[in-house]
Amino acid sequence: MEDVVQNIKLKLSSPQDIVILSHRNPDGDAIGSSMALKRFLEKQNHRVKVVLPSECPITFNYLFENAEFPIIYDLDNKAAIESVKAASVIFCLDFNSLDRIDRLGESVLFSQGTKIMIDHHLDPEPFCQHVISDTSASSTSELVYFFIKHLGPMSSFHPLIGEAIFTGIVTDTGSFKYNTRPETYLVASELKAFGIDDYGVQNRIFNSLDAKYLKLLGHCLANRMVILPELKTAYIYLNKNDYAEFTIGRGDTEGIVNYLLMMKDVKLAAFITEQPSIIKISLRSKDNINVQQMAAAHFNGGGHKNASGGSAYAKLDDVIARFTKVLPNYVQ
Ligand code: 5GP
Ligand code: MN
Repeated sequence: MEDVVQNIKLKLSSPQDIVILSHRNPDGDAIGSSMALKRFLEKQNHRVKVVLPSECPITFNYLFENAEFPIIYDLDNKAAIESVKAASVIFCLDFNSLDRIDRLGESVLFSQGTKIMIDHHLDPEPFCQHVISDTSASSTSELVYFFIKHLGPMSSFHPLIGEAIFTGIVTDTGSFKYNTRPETYLVASELKAFGIDDYGVQNRIFNSLDAKYLKLLGHCLANRMVILPELKTAYIYLNKNDYAEFTIGRGDTEGIVNYLLMMKDVKLAAFITEQPSIIKISLRSKDNINVQQMAAAHFNGGGHKNASGGSAYAKLDDVIARFTKVLPNYVQ
């Protein structure tokens, strides 16, 4: 990482027009890492915009306190594309293939700006001049913390930056349950020593649900869960009627897939949902079962060994059939 930071230090030594991009359906790590980097770079007098393909779950609204809200392509595609076109520096955070940012990918591809990737997903695509790709990191936010430390000065660091970084680490590790490495705890320790409100962050993320989320969760577990004991697999599906009946919005289904892994004998879990024009699949696994390979081979997706996702233009039943058909190739 030091060499990459050295290479872009000169570029960042004078004020730049910077765009920070992250992936569709942004999660805590995408939004946290983006807002942390934005706030830090603004302290160095850069003009910084965060641009996202689609809207943020309202849970993460606290990350925008005293800050400009991200530009959302789905709400204002002109502003999003113009910002990318005008940027002299583009940071790509928490994604590593241009199809993760939809139509914005084209603008990034043709941009003359300096492109920097900071990411922790498997199989990065080569569309940035500068790449910090570390699949052993818990989160992009963890990497952004080290990036900021190398770039300096730490006098520009402040609690809102720390809380944004902590948000990404907590959400991508399920509160330090998985994907951790020694550095993850090191960062958490430094943030705590710095004085961030770690409990406050976790409280805002995990104890701020609407009753409707719990009702939806109950419905998923009682009526939409299928267990395949011989394949050590469980899945939950939701159709369009469920979406209407429970008025499911952005972020309302976050985390439901993880409940399936609470069963002792379940090694692979899937959450399959009927969206307006596509079927989305979220995959999770334990131990050595590699759902990234399944997502990449059958669902036009990717991610990490134990947490991946993808999508298909097909009927819900057909995607469930495809999933159950290929399943034996991944669970032994
Ligand atoms: P989730 O299931 O929570 O949406 O995503 C789990 C992981 O898989 C995340 O790291 C996410 O970036 C990745 N992922 C989810 N959906 C897709 C997708 O459609 N394509 C790719 N390449 N990765 C995805
Ligand atoms: Mn991430």
